Amino acid sequence: MQTIIPPDRRQRIQDLGYDYAAQPRDLVMTCNLCGTNVLVTITQRDRYGYPAQASACSRCGLVFLNPRMTAAAYGRFYDGVYRPLVSAFHGRLIDARTIQAEQREYAHDRAEFVRPFISRRGLATMLDIGGSTGVVAGHFAKQFGLSGTLIDPAPLEVQEAHTFGLETITGLVEEHDFGGRQFDLVLICQTVDHLLDVAGTLKRVRELLTPNGYLFVDIVDFRAAYLRNWSVEDATKIDHPYYLTQDTMTSYLRRSGFETMRAAYAADHLHVSYLCRPTQPVPQALPDAASVSHLFREIRFVQNAPRPA
Ligand SMILES: [Zn+2]
Repeated sequence: MQTIIPPDRRQRIQDLGYDYAAQPRDLVMTCNLCGTNVLVTITQRDRYGYPAQASACSRCGLVFLNPRMTAAAYGRFYDGVYRPLVSAFHGRLIDARTIQAEQREYAHDRAEFVRPFISRRGLATMLDIGGSTGVVAGHFAKQFGLSGTLIDPAPLEVQEAHTFGLETITGLVEEHDFGGRQFDLVLICQTVDHLLDVAGTLKRVRELLTPNGYLFVDIVDFRAAYLRNWSVEDATKIDHPYYLTQDTMTSYLRRSGFETMRAAYAADHLHVSYLCRPTQPVPQALPDAASVSHLFREIRFVQNAPRPA
């Protein structure tokens, strides 16, 4: 269904004065997962009403914003637009301080998810990619006796992270020079959908991980997002360049050299978490053709069939 943005929400978003259409954007010509170039435009605007188009790859079903803002434009977005925009959408203040209560609960849940696998394994170091205010990394460091490093592009959030005794880096994992350092645990929490290059980042993470290390990563499952809203537009937003599904994420992990030890649907039914360890990459891993055609059929159905009562 094409949903209508309520007038009060539309007004709050307009009042921010963020001109998305004026931001520099690049057209993506090849799929980041499978490398082919037959892309299908599946939607014309996002949940905020911005003219953000998303493409789906006809071969593997990867969904992503296309065209997509440049890294510099995303840098400016995270430095002062992102949290106010999400606040305007929800109609309540969401900032580096208010998100901490929600992050504490999330941190507790995710630590219990990984605990049986990573406790008493002699792990010493941890890198949290896109670690925001450090609530999650701080909790993991304390629970598992790890020395934690956090990298995030948002300066205000990194500033908060200092209070947890973490080493902090303001920047992007794709660009930062770690100088050969490796980590026993890498966290990519509520972040993979925000990356500009998922394949490149996972390849980098594989190099940053010690041979006996672990990766925790979670996705917003795109199918869950559009099915719960019964709207593809409402499931897309300029803050997420990528819209992963269980099929596409599993393929990404296998191609990048990660074996999934455990997966879990979060209590919100929206996020799916994966705990992985390094293994041999399977470069040809892709979702099968039947699941890709099911995805396209389901998107068309949600876009055109009435919302179920
Ligand atoms: Zn593809």
